[in-house]
Amino acid sequence: MALPKIGEPSAVFPVGAAELAGPRPGELNITHACVDRHIAAGQGGSVALRWLGRGTRRRDFSYDELGEMADRMAAVLSRLGVAPGETVAVLLGRGPELYAGALGIWKVGAVFCPLFALLGPGPMKLRLELAKASVLIAGDGLYARTVADQRATLSGLRHVLLVGEDGKAARLSEGCTDLRALLAAADPVGVDTYPTRAGDAAILHFTSGTTGTPKPTVHAHGAVVAQLDTARQVFGITPDDVFWCTADPGWVTCTAYGMVAPLAAGCTVVVEDGEVEPRRWYSILRDEKVTAWYTTPTAIRTLMRSGAALARTFCRNTLRVVASVGEPLNPEAVLWGEKALGVPVRDTWWQTETGAITIANIPDAGRVRNPGSMGRPLPGVEAAVVRREGGGVVAVAVGVGELAIREGGPAMFIGYGDDEARRQACFADGWYLTGDLVRRDADGFYWFLGRADDMLNSGGHQIGPFEVECLLMDHPAVAEAGVVGRPDPLMLEVPVAFVTLNPGFEVGEALMAELLAFARHELGAAMAPCDVHFVAALPKTASGKILRRVLKTYAAGKCKDGQVVELRPGR
Ligand code: AMP
Repeated sequence: MALPKIGEPSAVFPVGAAELAGPRPGELNITHACVDRHIAAGQGGSVALRWLGRGTRRRDFSYDELGEMADRMAAVLSRLGVAPGETVAVLLGRGPELYAGALGIWKVGAVFCPLFALLGPGPMKLRLELAKASVLIAGDGLYARTVADQRATLSGLRHVLLVGEDGKAARLSEGCTDLRALLAAADPVGVDTYPTRAGDAAILHFTSGTTGTPKPTVHAHGAVVAQLDTARQVFGITPDDVFWCTADPGWVTCTAYGMVAPLAAGCTVVVEDGEVEPRRWYSILRDEKVTAWYTTPTAIRTLMRSGAALARTFCRNTLRVVASVGEPLNPEAVLWGEKALGVPVRDTWWQTETGAITIANIPDAGRVRNPGSMGRPLPGVEAAVVRREGGGVVAVAVGVGELAIREGGPAMFIGYGDDEARRQACFADGWYLTGDLVRRDADGFYWFLGRADDMLNSGGHQIGPFEVECLLMDHPAVAEAGVVGRPDPLMLEVPVAFVTLNPGFEVGEALMAELLAFARHELGAAMAPCDVHFVAALPKTASGKILRRVLKTYAAGKCKDGQVVELRPGR
Protein backbone atom coordinates (compact mmCIF):
# COMPACT_ATOMS: atom_id res chain seq x y z
CA MET A 1 0.00 0.00 0.00
CA ALA A 2 1.18 3.57 -0.62
CA LEU A 3 1.71 5.22 2.74
CA PRO A 4 2.67 8.75 3.69
CA LYS A 5 6.10 9.52 5.07
CA ILE A 6 6.86 9.59 8.79
CA GLY A 7 9.19 12.13 10.36
CA GLU A 8 12.82 11.13 9.94
CA PRO A 9 13.78 9.57 13.34
CA SER A 10 17.21 11.20 13.30
CA ALA A 11 15.59 14.66 13.13
CA VAL A 12 13.79 14.15 16.46
CA PHE A 13 15.97 11.57 18.25
CA PRO A 14 19.45 11.79 16.69
CA VAL A 15 21.20 9.69 19.34
CA GLY A 16 18.63 6.86 19.38
CA ALA A 17 18.36 6.82 15.59
CA ALA A 18 22.11 6.33 15.26
CA GLU A 19 22.15 3.70 18.01
CA LEU A 20 19.37 1.62 16.45
CA ALA A 21 20.32 2.05 12.78
CA GLY A 22 20.71 -1.08 10.66
CA PRO A 23 24.00 -2.40 9.30
CA ARG A 24 23.83 -0.47 5.99
CA PRO A 25 23.10 3.25 5.55
CA GLY A 26 19.40 4.09 5.71
CA GLU A 27 18.33 0.73 7.16
CA LEU A 28 16.22 0.42 10.29
CA ASN A 29 14.47 -2.79 11.31
CA ILE A 30 12.81 -3.42 14.66
CA THR A 31 14.22 -6.94 15.02
CA HIS A 32 17.74 -5.71 14.36
CA ALA A 33 17.20 -2.92 16.92
CA CYS A 34 15.70 -5.24 19.56
CA VAL A 35 17.79 -8.39 19.25
CA ASP A 36 20.45 -8.67 16.55
CA ARG A 37 22.44 -5.64 17.60
CA HIS A 38 22.65 -6.87 21.23
CA ILE A 39 23.95 -10.22 20.01
CA ALA A 40 26.46 -8.49 17.71
CA ALA A 41 27.62 -6.40 20.69
CA GLY A 42 28.32 -9.53 22.75
CA GLN A 43 25.24 -9.20 24.99
CA GLY A 44 23.49 -12.32 23.65
CA GLY A 45 23.86 -14.16 26.95
CA SER A 46 21.67 -11.68 28.92
CA VAL A 47 18.13 -12.71 29.75
CA ALA A 48 15.66 -11.24 27.24
CA LEU A 49 12.42 -12.92 28.33
CA ARG A 50 11.41 -14.30 31.69
CA TRP A 51 8.31 -16.28 30.80
CA LEU A 52 5.96 -17.26 33.63
CA GLY A 53 3.52 -19.83 32.29
CA ARG A 54 0.46 -21.30 33.93
CA GLY A 55 1.09 -23.17 37.19
CA THR A 56 4.78 -23.70 37.80
CA ARG A 57 5.93 -23.53 34.17
CA ARG A 58 8.57 -20.89 33.65
CA ARG A 59 11.64 -20.35 31.52
CA ASP A 60 14.26 -17.71 30.78
CA PHE A 61 15.24 -16.99 27.16
CA SER A 62 18.53 -15.21 26.46
CA TYR A 63 18.88 -12.70 23.63
CA ASP A 64 20.82 -15.43 21.76
CA GLU A 65 17.88 -17.84 22.14
CA LEU A 66 15.32 -15.21 21.21
CA GLY A 67 17.40 -14.33 18.14
CA GLU A 68 17.45 -17.95 17.07
CA MET A 69 13.68 -18.26 17.57
CA ALA A 70 13.17 -15.13 15.43
CA ASP A 71 15.45 -16.56 12.73
CA ARG A 72 13.53 -19.83 12.69
CA MET A 73 10.24 -17.94 12.46
CA ALA A 74 11.60 -15.80 9.62
CA ALA A 75 12.78 -18.96 7.81
CA VAL A 76 9.28 -20.48 8.16
CA LEU A 77 7.58 -17.34 6.84
CA SER A 78 10.01 -17.02 3.92
CA ARG A 79 9.36 -20.64 2.97
CA LEU A 80 5.64 -19.95 2.98
CA GLY A 81 6.28 -17.12 0.54
CA VAL A 82 5.45 -14.23 2.88
CA ALA A 83 6.61 -11.08 1.06
CA PRO A 84 7.77 -7.78 2.60
CA GLY A 85 4.76 -5.55 3.35
CA GLU A 86 2.33 -8.49 3.70
CA THR A 87 0.34 -8.71 6.94
CA VAL A 88 0.71 -11.62 9.35
CA ALA A 89 -1.97 -11.66 12.03
CA VAL A 90 -1.15 -13.06 15.46
CA LEU A 91 -3.72 -14.36 17.92
CA LEU A 92 -1.70 -15.58 20.88
CA GLY A 93 -1.56 -15.00 24.60
CA ARG A 94 1.58 -13.54 26.19
CA GLY A 95 4.17 -16.26 25.62
CA PRO A 96 7.48 -16.91 23.85
CA GLU A 97 5.79 -17.55 20.47
CA LEU A 98 4.24 -14.07 20.55
CA TYR A 99 7.74 -12.56 20.74
CA ALA A 100 9.30 -14.97 18.24
CA GLY A 101 6.35 -14.34 15.91
CA ALA A 102 6.64 -10.55 15.97
CA LEU A 103 10.44 -10.58 15.62
CA GLY A 104 10.34 -13.12 12.77
CA ILE A 105 7.65 -11.11 10.97
CA TRP A 106 9.70 -7.89 11.16
CA LYS A 107 12.80 -9.80 10.09
CA VAL A 108 11.22 -10.69 6.73
CA GLY A 109 9.88 -7.13 6.33
CA ALA A 110 6.25 -8.17 6.88
CA VAL A 111 3.66 -6.38 9.07
CA PHE A 112 2.88 -7.71 12.57
CA CYS A 113 -0.83 -7.51 13.40
CA PRO A 114 -1.64 -8.67 16.96
CA LEU A 115 -5.31 -9.34 17.73
CA PHE A 116 -7.23 -9.21 21.01
CA ALA A 117 -7.97 -12.71 22.26
CA LEU A 118 -11.29 -11.65 23.79
CA LEU A 119 -13.01 -10.87 20.49
CA GLY A 120 -15.84 -13.05 19.25
CA PRO A 121 -16.04 -14.62 15.75
CA GLY A 122 -17.72 -11.60 14.08
CA PRO A 123 -15.24 -8.93 15.18
CA MET A 124 -12.35 -11.34 14.53
CA LYS A 125 -13.41 -11.92 10.93
CA LEU A 126 -13.87 -8.18 10.38
CA ARG A 127 -10.32 -7.49 11.62
CA LEU A 128 -8.70 -10.28 9.59
CA GLU A 129 -10.39 -8.88 6.49
CA LEU A 130 -9.55 -5.24 7.24
CA ALA A 131 -5.92 -6.23 7.90
CA LYS A 132 -5.78 -8.22 4.63
CA ALA A 133 -3.91 -10.89 6.58
CA SER A 134 -2.40 -13.65 4.44
CA VAL A 135 -1.10 -15.68 7.38
CA LEU A 136 -2.55 -16.20 10.86
CA ILE A 137 -0.49 -17.48 13.78
CA ALA A 138 -2.86 -18.53 16.56
CA GLY A 139 -3.30 -20.55 19.73
CA ASP A 140 -5.22 -23.71 18.81
CA GLY A 141 -8.04 -23.07 21.30
CA LEU A 142 -8.41 -19.43 20.30
CA TYR A 143 -8.50 -20.42 16.64
CA ALA A 144 -11.13 -23.10 17.25
CA ARG A 145 -13.33 -20.66 19.19
CA THR A 146 -13.13 -17.64 16.93
CA VAL A 147 -11.89 -18.37 13.41
CA ALA A 148 -12.25 -22.07 12.46
CA ASP A 149 -15.94 -21.93 11.50
CA GLN A 150 -15.43 -19.03 9.12
CA ARG A 151 -12.08 -20.00 7.62
CA ALA A 152 -13.71 -20.85 4.27
CA THR A 153 -15.04 -17.28 3.96
CA LEU A 154 -11.59 -15.71 4.58
CA SER A 155 -10.32 -16.05 1.04
CA GLY A 156 -7.16 -13.95 1.57
CA LEU A 157 -5.91 -16.13 4.43
CA ARG A 158 -3.41 -18.51 2.80
CA HIS A 159 -1.89 -20.16 5.88
CA VAL A 160 -2.92 -20.81 9.47
CA LEU A 161 -0.10 -21.80 11.85
CA LEU A 162 -1.30 -23.13 15.19
CA VAL A 163 0.46 -23.25 18.55
CA GLY A 164 -0.68 -25.80 21.11
CA GLU A 165 -1.87 -23.95 24.18
CA ASP A 166 -0.46 -25.12 27.55
CA GLY A 167 2.68 -26.48 25.82
CA LYS A 168 0.92 -29.45 24.21
CA ALA A 169 1.04 -30.31 20.47
CA ALA A 170 -1.42 -28.18 18.51
CA ARG A 171 -4.87 -29.66 17.88
CA LEU A 172 -5.01 -29.20 14.14
CA SER A 173 -8.10 -28.69 12.08
CA GLU A 174 -8.32 -28.77 8.30
CA GLY A 175 -5.94 -26.45 6.47
CA CYS A 176 -3.80 -25.66 9.53
CA THR A 177 -0.15 -26.49 10.31
CA ASP A 178 1.61 -27.00 13.64
CA LEU A 179 3.89 -23.98 14.04
CA ARG A 180 6.19 -25.62 16.59
CA ALA A 181 6.90 -28.49 14.19
CA LEU A 182 7.72 -26.00 11.41
CA LEU A 183 10.00 -24.04 13.75
CA ALA A 184 11.82 -27.17 14.88
CA ALA A 185 12.47 -28.17 11.27
CA ALA A 186 13.50 -24.68 10.09
CA ASP A 187 17.15 -23.78 9.49
CA PRO A 188 18.05 -20.66 11.50
CA VAL A 189 21.48 -20.29 9.94
CA GLY A 190 22.08 -17.47 7.47
CA VAL A 191 18.64 -15.85 7.76
CA ASP A 192 19.05 -12.24 6.64
CA THR A 193 17.13 -9.29 8.00
CA TYR A 194 15.15 -7.61 5.24
CA PRO A 195 16.61 -4.12 4.71
CA THR A 196 13.58 -2.09 5.83
CA ARG A 197 13.78 1.69 6.19
CA ALA A 198 12.31 3.90 8.93
CA GLY A 199 9.14 4.66 6.95
CA ASP A 200 8.29 1.07 5.98
CA ALA A 201 5.13 -0.42 7.51
CA ALA A 202 5.83 -2.74 10.47
CA ILE A 203 2.84 -2.90 12.83
CA LEU A 204 -0.92 -2.88 12.47
CA HIS A 205 -3.19 -2.48 15.52
CA PHE A 206 -6.88 -2.03 15.74
CA THR A 207 -7.90 0.84 17.99
CA SER A 208 -9.82 -0.41 20.99
CA GLY A 209 -13.15 0.82 19.75
CA THR A 210 -14.79 2.56 22.72
CA THR A 211 -16.68 4.34 19.94
CA GLY A 212 -17.20 3.66 16.24
CA THR A 213 -15.73 0.91 14.06
CA PRO A 214 -12.16 -0.37 14.58
CA LYS A 215 -9.46 1.40 12.62
CA PRO A 216 -6.50 -0.59 11.21
CA THR A 217 -3.74 1.70 12.46
CA VAL A 218 -0.33 1.22 10.84
CA HIS A 219 3.07 2.17 12.27
CA ALA A 220 6.48 2.07 10.65
CA HIS A 221 9.83 0.62 11.76
CA GLY A 222 10.93 4.15 12.76
CA ALA A 223 8.56 3.92 15.78
CA VAL A 224 11.19 1.88 17.65
CA VAL A 225 13.35 5.00 18.00
CA ALA A 226 10.61 6.98 19.75
CA GLN A 227 9.51 4.00 21.83
CA LEU A 228 13.00 3.42 23.21
CA ASP A 229 13.60 7.12 23.82
CA THR A 230 10.30 7.61 25.65
CA ALA A 231 10.84 4.45 27.73
CA ARG A 232 14.16 5.90 28.83
CA GLN A 233 12.54 9.22 29.70
CA VAL A 234 9.59 7.77 31.61
CA PHE A 235 11.12 4.62 33.14
CA GLY A 236 14.83 5.45 32.95
CA ILE A 237 15.37 1.90 31.66
CA THR A 238 18.81 0.38 31.20
CA PRO A 239 19.88 -3.21 30.45
CA ASP A 240 19.89 -3.85 34.22
CA ASP A 241 16.12 -3.44 34.49
CA VAL A 242 13.48 -6.11 34.87
CA PHE A 243 10.54 -4.64 32.97
CA TRP A 244 6.96 -5.82 33.27
CA CYS A 245 4.13 -4.51 31.10
CA THR A 246 0.73 -6.06 31.81
CA ALA A 247 -1.00 -4.94 28.59
CA ASP A 248 -2.97 -7.40 26.44
CA PRO A 249 -1.14 -8.45 23.25
CA GLY A 250 -3.80 -6.89 21.01
CA TRP A 251 -3.14 -3.44 22.43
CA VAL A 252 -0.46 -1.06 21.16
CA THR A 253 0.91 -0.77 24.72
CA CYS A 254 1.99 -4.43 24.67
CA THR A 255 3.79 -4.08 21.33
CA ALA A 256 5.45 -0.75 22.11
CA TYR A 257 6.32 -1.18 25.81
CA GLY A 258 5.84 -4.89 26.45
CA MET A 259 8.05 -5.89 23.51
CA VAL A 260 9.83 -3.26 21.42
CA ALA A 261 11.09 -0.62 23.90
CA PRO A 262 12.40 -2.90 26.68
CA LEU A 263 14.05 -5.30 24.20
CA ALA A 264 15.62 -2.38 22.33
CA ALA A 265 16.95 -1.23 25.72
CA GLY A 266 18.41 -4.71 26.40
CA CYS A 267 16.24 -5.30 29.52
CA THR A 268 14.80 -8.52 30.88
CA VAL A 269 11.10 -8.56 30.00
CA VAL A 270 8.67 -10.39 32.29
CA VAL A 271 6.08 -12.25 30.18
CA GLU A 272 3.01 -13.39 32.07
CA ASP A 273 -0.39 -14.33 30.75
CA GLY A 274 -2.74 -14.11 33.74
CA GLU A 275 -5.61 -11.77 34.57
CA VAL A 276 -5.29 -9.18 37.34
CA GLU A 277 -4.97 -11.26 40.49
CA PRO A 278 -3.57 -9.24 43.38
CA ARG A 279 -1.86 -12.04 45.31
CA ARG A 280 -0.13 -13.40 42.19
CA TRP A 281 0.78 -9.96 40.89
CA TYR A 282 2.38 -8.93 44.18
CA SER A 283 4.42 -12.13 44.18
CA ILE A 284 5.59 -11.51 40.60
CA LEU A 285 6.70 -7.99 41.54
CA ARG A 286 8.57 -9.36 44.53
CA ASP A 287 9.95 -12.70 43.28
CA GLU A 288 11.01 -11.57 39.82
CA LYS A 289 12.54 -8.39 41.29
CA VAL A 290 10.64 -6.18 38.87
CA THR A 291 12.20 -2.70 38.72
CA ALA A 292 9.91 -0.96 36.20
CA TRP A 293 6.21 -1.71 35.89
CA TYR A 294 3.74 -0.44 33.27
CA THR A 295 0.09 -1.16 33.95
CA THR A 296 -3.38 0.37 33.88
CA PRO A 297 -5.57 2.35 36.28
CA THR A 298 -7.98 -0.61 36.39
CA ALA A 299 -5.18 -2.88 37.62
CA ILE A 300 -4.04 -0.31 40.20
CA ARG A 301 -7.58 0.10 41.48
CA THR A 302 -8.00 -3.68 41.68
CA LEU A 303 -4.91 -3.82 43.89
CA MET A 304 -6.28 -0.95 45.98
CA ARG A 305 -9.52 -2.82 46.41
CA SER A 306 -7.66 -5.88 47.71
CA GLY A 307 -6.53 -3.84 50.69
CA ALA A 308 -3.44 -2.42 52.32
CA ALA A 309 -2.67 -5.53 54.38
CA LEU A 310 -2.03 -7.58 51.24
CA ALA A 311 0.09 -4.80 49.76
CA ARG A 312 2.27 -4.84 52.88
CA THR A 313 3.19 -8.50 52.34
CA PHE A 314 4.98 -7.36 49.19
CA CYS A 315 8.63 -6.46 49.60
CA ARG A 316 9.08 -3.23 47.71
CA ASN A 317 12.82 -2.80 47.51
CA THR A 318 13.35 -3.41 43.79
CA LEU A 319 10.42 -1.48 42.28
CA ARG A 320 11.79 1.83 40.99
CA VAL A 321 9.07 3.10 38.64
CA VAL A 322 5.35 2.36 38.25
CA ALA A 323 3.41 3.98 35.42
CA SER A 324 -0.10 3.63 34.07
CA VAL A 325 -1.86 4.27 30.76
CA GLY A 326 -5.13 3.82 28.95
CA GLU A 327 -7.61 5.60 31.17
CA PRO A 328 -7.58 8.54 33.55
CA LEU A 329 -5.63 7.91 36.73
CA ASN A 330 -7.38 9.35 39.75
CA PRO A 331 -5.26 11.21 42.37
CA GLU A 332 -6.08 8.63 45.05
CA ALA A 333 -4.47 5.89 42.89
CA VAL A 334 -1.32 7.99 42.34
CA LEU A 335 -0.86 8.49 46.07
CA TRP A 336 -1.79 4.91 46.95
CA GLY A 337 1.26 3.86 44.91
CA GLU A 338 3.47 5.88 47.24
CA LYS A 339 2.01 4.20 50.34
CA ALA A 340 1.61 0.64 49.09
CA LEU A 341 4.30 0.21 46.43
CA GLY A 342 6.84 2.74 47.70
CA VAL A 343 6.66 4.86 44.54
CA PRO A 344 3.87 7.08 43.22
CA VAL A 345 2.10 5.84 40.08
CA ARG A 346 3.07 8.12 37.19
CA ASP A 347 0.38 8.75 34.62
CA THR A 348 1.24 8.57 30.92
CA TRP A 349 -0.95 9.61 28.01
CA TRP A 350 -0.79 8.42 24.43
CA GLN A 351 -2.93 6.74 21.82
CA THR A 352 -2.58 3.95 19.30
CA GLU A 353 -2.16 6.66 16.67
CA THR A 354 0.70 8.50 18.42
CA GLY A 355 2.63 5.21 18.67
CA ALA A 356 4.60 6.23 21.77
CA ILE A 357 4.08 8.06 25.06
CA THR A 358 3.64 11.76 24.47
CA ILE A 359 2.67 13.18 27.88
CA ALA A 360 3.76 11.90 31.28
CA ASN A 361 3.67 13.00 34.89
CA ILE A 362 7.27 12.37 35.91
CA PRO A 363 7.88 13.06 39.61
CA ASP A 364 10.10 15.89 40.82
CA ALA A 365 12.40 14.64 43.56
CA GLY A 366 10.24 11.54 44.05
CA ARG A 367 6.91 13.41 44.28
CA VAL A 368 4.21 13.73 41.64
CA ARG A 369 3.48 17.47 41.50
CA ASN A 370 -0.13 17.36 40.40
CA PRO A 371 -1.74 13.99 41.14
CA GLY A 372 -4.64 13.57 38.71
CA SER A 373 -2.84 15.41 35.91
CA MET A 374 -1.40 13.49 32.96
CA GLY A 375 1.72 15.65 33.28
CA ARG A 376 3.59 17.51 30.58
CA PRO A 377 4.71 16.68 27.02
CA LEU A 378 7.96 14.72 26.88
CA PRO A 379 11.00 16.38 25.30
CA GLY A 380 10.74 15.85 21.53
CA VAL A 381 6.93 16.17 21.61
CA GLU A 382 5.08 19.38 20.80
CA ALA A 383 1.54 19.38 22.19
CA ALA A 384 -1.16 22.06 22.14
CA VAL A 385 -4.73 22.69 23.20
CA VAL A 386 -6.75 23.69 20.14
CA ARG A 387 -10.22 24.52 18.92
CA ARG A 388 -11.33 23.34 15.48
CA GLU A 389 -12.39 26.26 13.30
CA GLY A 390 -13.26 26.14 9.62
CA GLY A 391 -10.91 23.58 8.10
CA GLY A 392 -8.09 24.42 10.53
CA VAL A 393 -7.35 24.86 14.22
CA VAL A 394 -6.86 27.75 16.62
CA ALA A 395 -4.52 27.31 19.58
CA VAL A 396 -5.94 27.91 23.07
CA ALA A 397 -3.14 29.33 25.27
CA VAL A 398 -4.39 28.18 28.69
CA GLY A 399 -7.70 26.45 29.17
CA VAL A 400 -9.94 23.78 27.73
CA GLY A 401 -9.84 22.35 24.21
CA GLU A 402 -8.82 19.38 22.11
CA LEU A 403 -5.38 17.89 22.64
CA ALA A 404 -3.26 18.15 19.49
CA ILE A 405 0.19 16.70 18.81
CA ARG A 406 2.53 18.18 16.18
CA GLU A 407 2.83 15.79 13.23
CA GLY A 408 6.19 14.49 12.08
CA GLY A 409 7.30 12.24 14.98
CA PRO A 410 8.63 8.84 13.92
CA ALA A 411 6.09 6.92 16.01
CA MET A 412 3.02 8.66 14.56
CA PHE A 413 0.75 6.27 12.62
CA ILE A 414 1.18 6.25 8.86
CA GLY A 415 -2.27 5.13 7.84
CA TYR A 416 -5.63 3.58 8.59
CA GLY A 417 -5.08 0.65 6.22
CA ASP A 418 -5.11 2.37 2.86
CA ASP A 419 -7.96 4.74 3.68
CA GLU A 420 -5.95 7.93 3.18
CA ALA A 421 -8.99 10.20 3.50
CA ARG A 422 -9.73 8.80 6.97
CA ARG A 423 -6.09 9.41 8.03
CA GLN A 424 -6.05 12.93 6.65
CA ALA A 425 -9.25 13.79 8.50
CA CYS A 426 -7.25 13.52 11.75
CA PHE A 427 -4.81 16.27 10.77
CA ALA A 428 -5.14 20.04 10.41
CA ASP A 429 -2.54 22.79 10.08
CA GLY A 430 0.31 20.39 10.87
CA TRP A 431 -1.34 19.00 14.02
CA TYR A 432 -2.70 15.53 14.74
CA LEU A 433 -6.07 15.99 16.46
CA THR A 434 -6.52 13.42 19.20
CA GLY A 435 -10.24 13.66 19.91
CA ASP A 436 -9.49 14.02 23.65
CA LEU A 437 -10.57 17.10 25.57
CA VAL A 438 -8.04 18.43 28.04
CA ARG A 439 -7.24 21.47 30.14
CA ARG A 440 -3.75 22.91 30.26
CA ASP A 441 -2.85 24.93 33.32
CA ALA A 442 -0.46 27.85 33.61
CA ASP A 443 2.43 25.49 34.51
CA GLY A 444 1.91 23.50 31.31
CA PHE A 445 0.33 20.45 33.00
CA TYR A 446 -2.38 18.68 31.01
CA TRP A 447 -5.58 17.48 32.71
CA PHE A 448 -7.79 14.92 31.00
CA LEU A 449 -11.48 15.79 30.71
CA GLY A 450 -12.82 13.06 28.44
CA ARG A 451 -13.10 11.93 24.86
CA ALA A 452 -14.63 14.78 22.89
CA ASP A 453 -17.61 12.54 22.13
CA ASP A 454 -17.98 11.52 25.81
CA MET A 455 -18.39 15.09 27.09
CA LEU A 456 -21.77 15.86 28.58
CA ASN A 457 -23.72 18.98 27.86
CA SER A 458 -25.98 19.61 30.83
CA GLY A 459 -27.97 22.80 30.50
CA GLY A 460 -25.05 24.38 28.61
CA HIS A 461 -22.38 23.18 31.10
CA GLN A 462 -19.67 21.06 29.51
CA ILE A 463 -19.00 18.27 32.01
CA GLY A 464 -15.96 16.02 31.73
CA PRO A 465 -16.92 12.57 33.03
CA PHE A 466 -13.47 11.98 34.56
CA GLU A 467 -13.81 14.88 36.99
CA VAL A 468 -17.06 13.44 38.34
CA GLU A 469 -15.64 9.89 38.41
CA CYS A 470 -12.57 11.05 40.35
CA LEU A 471 -14.71 12.73 42.97
CA LEU A 472 -16.88 9.65 43.41
CA MET A 473 -13.77 7.47 43.79
CA ASP A 474 -12.68 9.77 46.63
CA HIS A 475 -15.59 8.37 48.65
CA PRO A 476 -14.41 5.36 50.69
CA ALA A 477 -17.27 3.17 49.42
CA VAL A 478 -16.49 3.59 45.72
CA ALA A 479 -13.92 1.40 43.97
CA GLU A 480 -14.59 2.46 40.36
CA ALA A 481 -16.98 4.84 38.70
CA GLY A 482 -18.22 5.46 35.17
CA VAL A 483 -20.22 8.61 34.41
CA VAL A 484 -22.28 9.19 31.27
CA GLY A 485 -25.07 11.50 30.13
CA ARG A 486 -28.74 10.56 30.12
CA PRO A 487 -30.99 12.45 27.70
CA ASP A 488 -33.13 14.99 29.53
CA PRO A 489 -35.95 17.10 28.05
CA LEU A 490 -35.01 20.15 30.09
CA MET A 491 -31.23 20.00 30.46
CA LEU A 492 -30.38 18.16 27.21
CA GLU A 493 -28.35 15.69 29.29
CA VAL A 494 -27.86 14.96 32.98
CA PRO A 495 -24.92 13.05 34.50
CA VAL A 496 -25.59 9.53 35.74
CA ALA A 497 -23.04 7.42 37.65
CA PHE A 498 -22.38 3.68 37.69
CA VAL A 499 -20.19 2.57 40.59
CA THR A 500 -18.57 -0.58 41.96
CA LEU A 501 -18.10 -0.78 45.70
CA ASN A 502 -15.15 -1.54 47.94
CA PRO A 503 -15.46 -4.58 50.22
CA GLY A 504 -17.46 -3.92 53.39
CA PHE A 505 -20.02 -1.52 51.86
CA GLU A 506 -23.66 -2.46 51.32
CA VAL A 507 -25.72 -1.61 48.26
CA GLY A 508 -28.88 0.23 49.22
CA GLU A 509 -30.91 3.41 49.41
CA ALA A 510 -28.88 4.77 52.30
CA LEU A 511 -25.57 4.52 50.47
CA MET A 512 -27.11 5.91 47.30
CA ALA A 513 -28.41 8.95 49.17
CA GLU A 514 -25.03 9.40 50.83
CA LEU A 515 -23.17 9.29 47.50
CA LEU A 516 -25.57 11.72 45.85
CA ALA A 517 -25.25 14.14 48.75
CA PHE A 518 -21.46 13.78 48.78
CA ALA A 519 -21.26 14.52 45.04
CA ARG A 520 -23.64 17.47 45.31
CA HIS A 521 -21.68 18.93 48.18
CA GLU A 522 -18.30 18.54 46.47
CA LEU A 523 -19.17 19.20 42.82
CA GLY A 524 -22.21 21.48 43.03
CA ALA A 525 -25.64 20.84 41.59
CA ALA A 526 -24.67 21.41 37.94
CA MET A 527 -22.06 18.66 37.84
CA ALA A 528 -23.24 16.14 40.41
CA PRO A 529 -24.83 12.95 39.10
CA CYS A 530 -28.61 12.73 39.30
CA ASP A 531 -28.60 8.97 39.80
CA VAL A 532 -26.15 6.44 41.13
CA HIS A 533 -26.39 2.84 39.97
CA PHE A 534 -24.50 0.07 41.70
CA VAL A 535 -22.86 -2.47 39.40
CA ALA A 536 -20.84 -5.60 40.07
CA ALA A 537 -18.31 -4.59 37.38
CA LEU A 538 -18.04 -1.84 34.78
CA PRO A 539 -18.18 -2.95 31.13
CA LYS A 540 -14.72 -2.51 29.60
CA THR A 541 -12.84 -2.98 26.37
CA ALA A 542 -10.08 -5.60 26.27
CA SER A 543 -7.57 -2.85 27.02
CA GLY A 544 -9.52 -1.82 30.12
CA LYS A 545 -11.34 1.30 28.92
CA ILE A 546 -14.85 1.88 30.18
CA LEU A 547 -17.36 1.16 27.41
CA ARG A 548 -19.41 4.30 27.84
CA ARG A 549 -21.78 3.50 25.01
CA VAL A 550 -22.91 0.43 27.02
CA LEU A 551 -23.43 2.60 30.12
CA LYS A 552 -25.30 5.16 28.01
CA THR A 553 -27.73 2.50 26.82
CA TYR A 554 -28.46 1.55 30.41
CA ALA A 555 -28.62 5.16 31.56
CA ALA A 556 -31.16 5.96 28.88
CA GLY A 557 -33.19 2.87 29.74
CA LYS A 558 -34.49 0.99 32.61
CA CYS A 559 -32.11 1.06 35.55
CA LYS A 560 -33.78 1.31 38.91
CA ASP A 561 -31.97 3.66 41.27
CA GLY A 562 -30.08 2.15 44.15
CA GLN A 563 -30.20 -1.41 42.83
CA VAL A 564 -27.39 -3.56 41.51
CA VAL A 565 -27.57 -3.50 37.73
CA GLU A 566 -26.29 -6.49 35.81
CA LEU A 567 -24.45 -5.04 32.85
CA ARG A 568 -23.92 -7.19 29.81
CA PRO A 569 -21.06 -5.73 27.75
CA GLY A 570 -22.59 -7.00 24.53
CA ARG A 571 -25.48 -4.56 24.67
P1 AMP B 1 -5.93 3.48 22.62
O1 AMP B 1 -5.61 4.07 21.31
O2 AMP B 1 -6.81 2.30 22.55
O3 AMP B 1 -4.71 3.22 23.44
O4 AMP B 1 -6.78 4.58 23.39
C1 AMP B 1 -6.32 5.91 23.53
C2 AMP B 1 -7.26 6.68 24.39
O5 AMP B 1 -7.21 6.20 25.74
C3 AMP B 1 -6.89 8.14 24.50
O6 AMP B 1 -7.35 8.89 23.41
C4 AMP B 1 -7.59 8.53 25.80
O7 AMP B 1 -8.96 8.79 25.58
C5 AMP B 1 -7.41 7.27 26.65
N1 AMP B 1 -6.21 7.43 27.48
C6 AMP B 1 -4.98 6.92 27.28
N2 AMP B 1 -4.15 7.27 28.28
C7 AMP B 1 -4.85 8.06 29.11
C8 AMP B 1 -4.55 8.77 30.32
N3 AMP B 1 -3.36 8.71 30.88
N4 AMP B 1 -5.54 9.49 30.87
C9 AMP B 1 -6.77 9.55 30.31
N5 AMP B 1 -7.12 8.90 29.19
C10 AMP B 1 -6.17 8.16 28.59
